[in-house]
Amino acid sequence: MTSLNKISEPEIDQDSAQYWAACAERKLLHGQCRGCGKAFWYPRSFCPLCASPAVDLVESSGVGVIYSLAIMRKADPPFILAYVTLDEGPTMLSNIVDCAVDAVRIGDPVEVVFVQTEKGSLVPMFRPAAP
Ligand SMILES: [Zn+2]
Repeated sequence: MTSLNKISEPEIDQDSAQYWAACAERKLLHGQCRGCGKAFWYPRSFCPLCASPAVDLVESSGVGVIYSLAIMRKADPPFILAYVTLDEGPTMLSNIVDCAVDAVRIGDPVEVVFVQTEKGSLVPMFRPAAP
């Protein structure tokens, strides 16, 4: 009997509530610092680069490239865990979906896709995009 990989429910707290509310509308947000001007992920109430509390949440284009990846071959079915560097600069840990596990390489362009958990939450993942 095949068991599908379960998608973890997002853990929503005060810092991430706005982020997950945007995901529910299929929008990917990242943090943007008004202190040093850098973009970051995951969103939080201060900048992880300069510790400034002057941060905003802004919408990402949802496109990026694979920075590194690992194929979880022992899982059933196997899946791809990857760090994706968004066009805006930050790198986020996610999954690559909608392709064979051997079909993608580091540097490949990807785009965000929102995958539903069992309870109906939408979680951002990535799929191969046209170059
Ligand atoms: Zn900063």
